[in-house]
Amino acid sequence: MSWDEIVGHHTQRDLLRGTIARQRLAHTYLFVGMDGIGKRAFALKFAQCLMCQRHTAEEFDACGACPGCKQVLAGTHPDLFVVGCPEGKREIPIDTFLGPADKRGKSGLCYDLSHTPMAGGRKIALICDAERLNEESANALLKTLEEPPPHSLIILIATHIDSILPTIRSRCQVLRFSPLSTADVAELLLKNGLTTDADAAQVAAASSEGSLTQAAMLLDGDLRAQRNRLFDLLAAPAFNSLAVTGFVMDGIEATGTEAPVQREQAGWYFRFCVEFFKTAVTELITQQPGTIPQVTQFRQRYGQPTADQLTGLSNVVERIVAAAIHLDQNVAVALTVEALFDEVGRMLRAVPV
Ligand SMILES: [Zn+2]
Repeated sequence: MSWDEIVGHHTQRDLLRGTIARQRLAHTYLFVGMDGIGKRAFALKFAQCLMCQRHTAEEFDACGACPGCKQVLAGTHPDLFVVGCPEGKREIPIDTFLGPADKRGKSGLCYDLSHTPMAGGRKIALICDAERLNEESANALLKTLEEPPPHSLIILIATHIDSILPTIRSRCQVLRFSPLSTADVAELLLKNGLTTDADAAQVAAASSEGSLTQAAMLLDGDLRAQRNRLFDLLAAPAFNSLAVTGFVMDGIEATGTEAPVQREQAGWYFRFCVEFFKTAVTELITQQPGTIPQVTQFRQRYGQPTADQLTGLSNVVERIVAAAIHLDQNVAVALTVEALFDEVGRMLRAVPV
């Protein structure tokens, strides 16, 4: 069946199928989960199932060959609207919902949704990057969410639920999406032809936090080389905060002076650090050998760890995760990096080998 194309997210699929079977489909959904795990592809498949002319909605499947399916796949279905943050813009403008200033209220998504569906079923809107709604566009959308047209289905897609205005959130059924498993990501990399190298796919998937987008970026040899060099530093017998900070800041500054790009690069280093220490903790608990040589080198020094050592190392992981969240909150990158590695050094010295 056509859902086979969607990797993972079976719980969400079954939940929606059940909701449709009970005829309890809501007018508005909010799909939440990290970037690059297939929320948009899932939402499109969902829409396709509702628009397929050979399957009833209750069957929750799509043939892929009828006019409805073909139009969804080609992005030309007259009752399906996909909007998001325009390329190069930071926010979704109000025009997206209400049309340009000279045609306010006479075009745009809210206008389109208010009309009867052309194909007779539903009008479905996917609002991608929903965290990029500004106050004005959120208010415009809110009016439609407060009184959704009877034939409409609106799916907002966002990375963090906290970034959605409470007034919008409260009008939506929230559906949370989990990161993909490492095996699923590796499979997708190979299946989608992003690489033919199974080892590279495995390494990229392991550091991807379950995001295909992140994994695809990690296929980049430079980034993998950076990860490897960072792991060398992290595995050094005595953690050298200055050396790690210097290496990371050099890498960040090499990306240029744009703050969002710098933050993205910093995010990679933080993820690598989380991967390193998390893997070390797992291997110390299970006493099973892993595949990252530097992690092996690091954890062998602990041998059979004490409870204090395990707690100390887990705290290091948590501290790095917290720093990664700070990065998203627009705190200055250099300050975050310095403070983090300074503290990680202190924390590691507090759990001596
Ligand atoms: Zn079909």
